[in-house]
Amino acid sequence: MATLVMGYDVEFMAIGEGLARAGIPDAVGYPDMPHEATGMGLDLIRQAHREFDAPATLFLCGRTLVHALPVLRQATEEPLFDFGQHTYSHVLFKDDHWEGGVFRASPPEALIHEVEASQSLLKEHLGIDGIGMRTPHGHWEGLRGRPDLLEIIDRAGIKYITSWGRNSDGGNPTPLDIQPFWYTDEGYPQILEIPFQFWLDGTWFAAHGNDQGLKFIEVLKTAIDYIVEHDLVYGVCFHDWAMLHYNEEGTRWVWGLLEYARSRGVDIKSYTQFYESMLAEVPAPT
Ligand SMILES: [Zn+2]
Repeated sequence: MATLVMGYDVEFMAIGEGLARAGIPDAVGYPDMPHEATGMGLDLIRQAHREFDAPATLFLCGRTLVHALPVLRQATEEPLFDFGQHTYSHVLFKDDHWEGGVFRASPPEALIHEVEASQSLLKEHLGIDGIGMRTPHGHWEGLRGRPDLLEIIDRAGIKYITSWGRNSDGGNPTPLDIQPFWYTDEGYPQILEIPFQFWLDGTWFAAHGNDQGLKFIEVLKTAIDYIVEHDLVYGVCFHDWAMLHYNEEGTRWVWGLLEYARSRGVDIKSYTQFYESMLAEVPAPT
């Protein structure tokens, strides 16, 4: 059955310097956005998901978690949400070559600290034993061929990752034909990859205009049509800050995606629910 897997990276102000720069007109990042962007974004996400009784996983950056604790504690009261992590401060597992520049991967010591810190913060502040992680940026082939990186994931108790979020050119859209798999070849048959395909919200809007939410709905509908036709899984990657930056309140592009998926009879799951369904249907090889 075609399945839409919904997930949001909750990462506003995850990069420490940004905490001091909000509201400064010439700052890098999103100086037009309020400090409360995470809470405001989650409110819009919650509205859409309640309307369509659609679950979602929130992948939290640890730094965002400790700077927006009240709204994230409130989010745990929403039965449609479950939680994973997105590192502590949005560090990269692999180099990301992007528009002529490069975002460098962090060394293993930093990755270990980042991943384990966020696991601890999920437990300490939200009472959650995290089993899922989205790697920042995402990469072509995810963590294929990287048992060294999968070891870091495994030792933190993480059971599924979502790291394949780019096409072979290092951009979007990522083909919907790339489907979930177990990291058996790398020696971690118990870790599931759930790719996030098609367009990241930010990548599409950067190319087409921040006010083009209505047009984005039409693009997202083509992805739903494709997974229905080919019986595929589509892992979505949207963001807390994107709800404000790309005017979800005014154009309802998340709302429009969920509405269309329901109208086409697509199953909607959170990432964690999808992992659990894979475990139930196809137990991880031992
Ligand atoms: Zn991110």
